[in-house]
Amino acid sequence: MSSEIHFCAICGSSYAVEDHHIMFRSQIKPLEKCPYNHIYLCPKHHRDPKEGVHFNAELDAKLKAAFKLQLEKLFTKDTYTLREIRDILKIGNNAVNKLCKNMWTYEGRYKRDDIIRACTSKYIE
Ligand SMILES: [Zn+2]
Ligand SMILES: [Zn+2]
Repeated sequence: MSSEIHFCAICGSSYAVEDHHIMFRSQIKPLEKCPYNHIYLCPKHHRDPKEGVHFNAELDAKLKAAFKLQLEKLFTKDTYTLREIRDILKIGNNAVNKLCKNMWTYEGRYKRDDIIRACTSKYIE
């Protein structure tokens, strides 16, 4: 990667920031490389046992809600083709196939609400 300076999405610190997957890889693997699913966090907001997102359910829910909002802004039409979903999420062919594997299609198109649900799943209200 580059030597760009990154800032913690919570406090703005640039010290030792780490890359975080909003939807964890263990939760939704196909979003592993989706740029919208990545944010930077300082060590405190990432892995601190009290305040870190991996241990703080409230902060985790907040970030996931913001991610869902972003998806709602990205997906504005009622239905999408697989290729459109891939391009919007900036993920690969395998990833989009996996993401949409269990989703109903309607004449080859996927419904917006189903797409957003697949990207956020049961981990968010
Ligand atoms: Zn921070
Ligand atoms: Zn993380």
